[in-house]
Amino acid sequence: SQLDTLDIIVLTALLLGTAAYFTKGSLWAVQKDTSHEAFAASKLNGAQAGKTRDIIKKMDESDKNMIIFYGSQTGTAEDYASRLAKEGAARFGLKTMVADLEEYDFDNLDVFPQDKVIVFVLATYGEGEPTDNAVEFYEFFMNEEPAFSEGGDPESKPLQNLKYIAFGLGNNTYEHYNSMVRRVDASLTKLGAKRIGTAGEGDDGAGTMEEDFLAWKEPMWTALAEDFGLEEREAVYEPVFAVKEREDLSIEDDTVYLGEPNKNHLEGKSKGPYNAHNPFIAPISKSKELFTVKDRNCLHMEIDLTGSNLSYTTGDHIAVWPTNAGKEVDRFINTLGLAGKRHSVIDVTGLDSTAKVPFPTPTTYDAIVRYHMEICAPVSRQFVASLAPFAPTPAAKELMTTLGGDKDQFQETISSQYLNIAQVLEKMAPGEIWSNVPFSMMIEGLNRIQPRYYSISSSSLVQPKLVSVTAVVESVRVPGGANVLKGVTTNYLLALKQKQGGDPEPDPHGLTYSINGPRNKYDGIHVPVHIRSSNFRLPSDPSKPVIMIGPGTGVAPFRGFVQERAALAAKGEKVGKTLLFFGCRKQAEDFLYQDEWKEYAAKLGDSFSLITAFSREGSEKVYVQHRLSEHAKEVNALLAQGAYFYVCGDAAHMAREVNSTLGKIIASERGLTETQGEDIVKRLRSSNLYQEDVW
Ligand code: FAD
Repeated sequence: SQLDTLDIIVLTALLLGTAAYFTKGSLWAVQKDTSHEAFAASKLNGAQAGKTRDIIKKMDESDKNMIIFYGSQTGTAEDYASRLAKEGAARFGLKTMVADLEEYDFDNLDVFPQDKVIVFVLATYGEGEPTDNAVEFYEFFMNEEPAFSEGGDPESKPLQNLKYIAFGLGNNTYEHYNSMVRRVDASLTKLGAKRIGTAGEGDDGAGTMEEDFLAWKEPMWTALAEDFGLEEREAVYEPVFAVKEREDLSIEDDTVYLGEPNKNHLEGKSKGPYNAHNPFIAPISKSKELFTVKDRNCLHMEIDLTGSNLSYTTGDHIAVWPTNAGKEVDRFINTLGLAGKRHSVIDVTGLDSTAKVPFPTPTTYDAIVRYHMEICAPVSRQFVASLAPFAPTPAAKELMTTLGGDKDQFQETISSQYLNIAQVLEKMAPGEIWSNVPFSMMIEGLNRIQPRYYSISSSSLVQPKLVSVTAVVESVRVPGGANVLKGVTTNYLLALKQKQGGDPEPDPHGLTYSINGPRNKYDGIHVPVHIRSSNFRLPSDPSKPVIMIGPGTGVAPFRGFVQERAALAAKGEKVGKTLLFFGCRKQAEDFLYQDEWKEYAAKLGDSFSLITAFSREGSEKVYVQHRLSEHAKEVNALLAQGAYFYVCGDAAHMAREVNSTLGKIIASERGLTETQGEDIVKRLRSSNLYQEDVW
């Protein structure tokens, strides 16, 4: 039956998720086998479910000539992929489809037809790693000789017939900038494939991702049009999804999704395994504020995993699935003229067999906007241009078209003001309702809401089922403007904390969350979560010294590390030097876990040192990297004894500063040149003695 098929598809997705999860582990050789088993099993299930993993077959069956693969972690690469698909169809009449790298095999690319093209939109994650859904793909191409199934002419290069396009998403503050797209591109070229256009690189670190993408894609389309003899035509909006009202259904019907993430949750029998496709609705057992000063809050929460299959290891991340603020849901619904039917039941279906609806249906406008769409995120210039034809007034239409075509003006009017999409529409046509905008356009143009990650701030040895989170509440006053940007997830967590504190109608800053979740399923202070394993690990031998640099909330995982080492010391184990550098503004203001460190120190004795840097106390700003320099001798001596060096927190500034400071320390303490010092830091990194958990 249809339902069985769906179940199998869900299972396949879960298995694939598990496979990707395992390959991230540190016990590479052992876990790799597990992943292959899971992978083989998933292939089998894929076949049973009638879902092919054969790209060529899939494209033939669905009559496509351009496939756009994404390797995405936070949804941006996926968004770019669907934008390319829409644009290729609208401007050049290409028959496009978007696909998840995880769902296909790549061993028959040697017989990929010459009249079709493949696009790879590849994000690089963390230390030059593939995104979870791109692990198998990446491993395949990183093989010295990838095993293509069809063989072909042994005299020629295996991919000589393949034409491809590539764009990478990276962050220049990380050492391995855009390494995914660079390495894949190099491998494809070596195998004889022909790239169309340049291999684009978007830089999140410089904040230019969107503009890099826009600047890359125009010449790419020109090159593609030339190569394939395509004619450009006037782009018209063609919906990918059909939105149909279901008058036969109401929100009382138990088949209607009111925000439940999947069928299990709808039916009320939430079942594991819980993972990135299936969150566990976890009770928050305790929550408090670590500090509150004007406009700044910092939360500590304890999330209970009891009753789930979830477990964690010290250093892992927990993903929190947020709910949009009522205030922003209302703004969006009202601006689009959906207020009268926000609770009407609708079906959303793909108009094409390859289009995947990004949330379960039947559902309501309210549920989609509240639980599934990233409505508060930065707005893309291309999206603003594409909304122009649907503007309620000629003036708004003109303004949208101008802004869509002018990078600088767009920056000034929209990006620099931190406006979200509904605020943009309000600003373009004050007091008007945008009822001409097809809702399908919003589904296609906005990202699916993303779970946010938090570095777990407890030790799995000490509290295996209770995950601590340390999160600062995002509240950014836009310079010169009236707008205050309120972070989606952290303000939701703040509301949960307020409710737990006894406030019956928690309402941080007038944001009004639906805190009880769909059908009150999150009542009793619950939050949907899953766990993501990381490579950020304490040494397995606790007698090894550790040096930890964690200013602000960057201290989160180190609270877990120190908690663990204190517990080991209390059990009588020999624990090596445990050196923590913490920084914040003022001792009396935002010194996180000030009292707890004393408890750990009592257990660890002399082996524990906490070195603080308060940036706003003296006449000069002192940061952790300054303190690190002051302790050059000790740091160098510990490294010589095989210390592990950890950095957590701000990627853009702090982590880079610490990296270069360490190079200088090594150089000056060991009488080497700065370049030699830097090389030693690089070696520490590649041998996993220097680990980063930065964002
Ligand atoms: P969001 O709504 O996602 O906003 C975040 C930022 O995005 C804003 O400050 C702004 O710069 C930008 N932004 C959002 N909307 C707009 C707009 N319309 N226009 C322009 N800019 C916009 N955080 C912690 O506090 N503690 C941790 O331990 C921690 N660990 C992490 C570990 C990892 C591996 C990662 C990747 C991140 C970690 N973070 C941590 C950060 C955390 O995941 C969230 O990013 C953070 O809490 C903000 O989430 P939010 O939903 O509240 O804010």
